Amino acid sequence: MLCPCGCQAIIQLSLIRRDSPHWRAWTEADGSASLSPSVWRKPTCGAHFWLRRGRIIWC
Ligand SMILES: [Zn+2]
Repeated sequence: MLCPCGCQAIIQLSLIRRDSPHWRAWTEADGSASLSPSVWRKPTCGAHFWLRRGRIIWC
């Protein structure tokens, strides 16, 4: 996914359970996507957000 802060960085998140860290992504009943836990790009642009029901929720 493209970083939602506008820095143009491409974020890659592992969904593989044995990887650390890894994320869980699922589809909501309305077809939108959610992701857990939050994404925190601490060493780069600092963006920290949740993806819930296809929307970015800033921390
Ligand atoms: Zn960014």
